[in-house]
Amino acid sequence: MYDVKSMKAEEFIDDQEILDTLEYAEKNKNNRELIGQILDKAAPKKTGRVVECAGLSHREASVLLACEDPEVIEKIYALARQIKEAFYGDRIVMFAPLYLSNYCVNQCVYCPYHLKNKEIPRKKLTQEEIRQEVIALQDMGHKRLAIESGEDPVNNPIEYILECINTIYSIKHKNGAIRRVNVNIAATTVENYKKLHDAGIGTYILFQETYHKESYEKLHPAGPKHNYAYHTEAMDRAMEGGIDDVGLGVLFGLDKYKYEFAGILMHAEHLEAVHGVGPHTISVPRVKKASDIDPNVFDNSIDDDTFAKIIACIRIAVPYTGMIISTRENETCREKVMGLGISQISGGSRTSVGGYAGYTPEERPHDTEQFDVSDQRSLDEVVKWLMDMGYIPSFCTACYREGRTGDRFMALCKVGQIQNCCHPNALMTLQEYLTDYASPETRAVGEALIAREIQNVPDLKRRQRAIEYLDEIKNGGKRDFRF
Ligand code: SF4
Ligand code: SF4
Repeated sequence: MYDVKSMKAEEFIDDQEILDTLEYAEKNKNNRELIGQILDKAAPKKTGRVVECAGLSHREASVLLACEDPEVIEKIYALARQIKEAFYGDRIVMFAPLYLSNYCVNQCVYCPYHLKNKEIPRKKLTQEEIRQEVIALQDMGHKRLAIESGEDPVNNPIEYILECINTIYSIKHKNGAIRRVNVNIAATTVENYKKLHDAGIGTYILFQETYHKESYEKLHPAGPKHNYAYHTEAMDRAMEGGIDDVGLGVLFGLDKYKYEFAGILMHAEHLEAVHGVGPHTISVPRVKKASDIDPNVFDNSIDDDTFAKIIACIRIAVPYTGMIISTRENETCREKVMGLGISQISGGSRTSVGGYAGYTPEERPHDTEQFDVSDQRSLDEVVKWLMDMGYIPSFCTACYREGRTGDRFMALCKVGQIQNCCHPNALMTLQEYLTDYASPETRAVGEALIAREIQNVPDLKRRQRAIEYLDEIKNGGKRDFRF
């Protein structure tokens, strides 16, 4: 029986509720009157300086996703762009993954790190190797990492993860620093989440992979991850452990996308109903080729148009939740979906254990890769590409650094301070990147962009302060200014 506030996975992700939702959506997919009402409800409303969005329930959003009328789909895209523009402007936050270990006791059938894959070499970084990786990442210009590790209580116990986090935060190479470490490790106990919280992590990320319980159990035939309820209830334990920022995700291609879409929104509604805070981010990965993995065996793969529609509908349904796309997607696809709601992308990524240090931007080790990287450009190329398209690459970690966790983004929106906060923060962190790491061409494009964009900070005093900070960064002075 569906109960959004239940602490049991099978009740807050109730299978019958999803099936009823899909039936309702199918029945109403051509109901223009209803769709019009849903779009009106979701549209941004302005009161003074404050812009607010109501978001949508999983049922309402599923109707939009089911709609096949090209004219209406254009309206859905237009609304998604409008919401993205209202809250995220042209800013795109940059991050990189850092793989710590590919030892894993699970048997996820879509992942090359599964226990039975004997072809892949197993590797776990030492603290010295982590130091080298982090220096390489800092020298690229990264400030925000997502650490990734397989589940293995012997090789990768929580103590190892905590030690790695500590090492990463401690490295200050030249002007570099990793200012926010997001953590993507297996579902664990409240006690371990408390330890991660105390270690100062940013977001705790755990992909559900699929919300369909039966498929979930087949796709995870053995190992601790086989337990659907333990995995699905992990975010509740993380929040109980004090972590305010959690990141959801499904792996599109494993099961039917409409089912996953309703499931992930129900999960978001559950977190909001129980903890008062929805997910900080939603990731939208698709199954990719890797060692021992052929994506063609998963018959639920989705094309680029469907993928774009999913992203637009998530943007409309949960307007305050960041949305992440990785280098699994190629340049063309990333370009297509960026304006529809993506707020964070990775750049210059390596998805192998120890993939950064000792390699040139063109070299890329494949032996321990978790998946094929489709977008293989360097961070500098990605930054320039974003700016050429009119986006502002941002390395901002200000909220985390100022202790603005949980629903802080919504708080910024509610007092109408995004443009006075996120905007100058994006420009100042971009200036750091340009001064310390960019190629001359990227620097020239970026400095022209900053000169233009700084004029769009509405508060005059703040704009003036930001201009002074920008000068100080350019002249090689202090870094890490933030509002
Ligand atoms: S997805 Fe994670 S848990 Fe599953 S095999 Fe890969 S590393 Fe292990
Ligand atoms: S100020 Fe906060 S909400 Fe805005 S971009 Fe920076 S971290 Fe994100």
